[in-house]
Amino acid sequence: AKVLVTGVSGYIGCHVSQHLLSLGFKVTGTVRSAAKAEQVRASLAALLQPAQRENLSFAIVDDIAVEGAFDSAVRDGGFEFVVHTASPFTYAIQDPQRDLIDPAVNGTTGVLKSVLKYGGSVKRIVVTSSMAAIRNTPTANPDGLSELDWNNAAIKAFNEMGAETPAGIAYSASKTLAEKAAWAFLEQNKCAFDLVTINPPFVFGPPIHPCSAPENLNTSVKLIWDMYVGAIKEVNPALAAGCVDVRDVARAHALALSNPEAGGQRFITSSGPYTQTLVRQVLQKRFPGRSYATGELAAVPVAELNAKSKRVLGMGEYIGLEESIVDTVNACIDRFGDV
Ligand code: NDP
Repeated sequence: AKVLVTGVSGYIGCHVSQHLLSLGFKVTGTVRSAAKAEQVRASLAALLQPAQRENLSFAIVDDIAVEGAFDSAVRDGGFEFVVHTASPFTYAIQDPQRDLIDPAVNGTTGVLKSVLKYGGSVKRIVVTSSMAAIRNTPTANPDGLSELDWNNAAIKAFNEMGAETPAGIAYSASKTLAEKAAWAFLEQNKCAFDLVTINPPFVFGPPIHPCSAPENLNTSVKLIWDMYVGAIKEVNPALAAGCVDVRDVARAHALALSNPEAGGQRFITSSGPYTQTLVRQVLQKRFPGRSYATGELAAVPVAELNAKSKRVLGMGEYIGLEESIVDTVNACIDRFGDV
């Protein structure tokens, strides 16, 4: 089957694509430029069989926030599925509306609009949402939270603070608004496709996407690398949340495509709690003799947040924090050298 994957140059988009290709899907990935496409092709080459490599192609989508951005990619594709991962996850912003909210919301509704107009063959769209669309980080106790909850607090804070909204809250608002817009679109339009959202907390695990230097790492992996190299001096309570390995996130997206029962549902994919104190414990055990961030944070009591993903998607066992952290650090050392 043919799948359009948006944001294939990104950390999660690249993993999702690699996993889908390894399962035999034909993947068209959207990238901002032909140069990016070549970088993705080179990054994935070693991880794919020759026949799988031939199943990877690209479509240029320069800016997902622009009206009609996905029209030509969708029109030309004959896709059965679409996976929408592209959305900015960064705290380095100047204008929350322009840098986070617009690409998140317009990107998501843009994909849906293009598929409604031109994607008659599409049966299902899987959107990479986030735990940030569910939980009001870090104040909410995640115990008892579920796929029924929404991070309305982030939207309220953004509406009140506007351009002054701190980046973390603006990011959460962008994910909440984008996911709400997607479900609203399905309600307001007669669509031949259905929708599934995957809602991961912090995603860790080995990066396989094009990335030439640690400074360019995606936000979540950079948090681990910065702990490893000692760039973080003190643990940050605002980052107490859940976590999940990127390979499990890729698996969840693939299962969401093919599982008939998944249609119309959201899925939290979480392996357990994440705090920088927990990460330090893993680093001290597995990479001893280095100097790490100080400070104690209580682990967030994450209940069985992933129960639904196991029951409905059949996720099985999740990779734990320790393996995820160790594999992240080793992959970064392989790529950038040790520090
Ligand atoms: P990355 O920054 O690695 O990937 C983001 C991708 O989106 C890149 O391919 C990027 O392209 C693309 N993109 C962003 N903005 C635009 C734009 N305006 N126009 C075109 N392309 C754009 O981040 P992740 O892989 O971590 O994030 C992927 C998805 O997963 C996002 O939806 C994010 O919200 C979600 N998520 C991530 C979590 C995490 O911990 N990593 C946790 C929960 C959800 P380019 O590289 O060219 O800029």
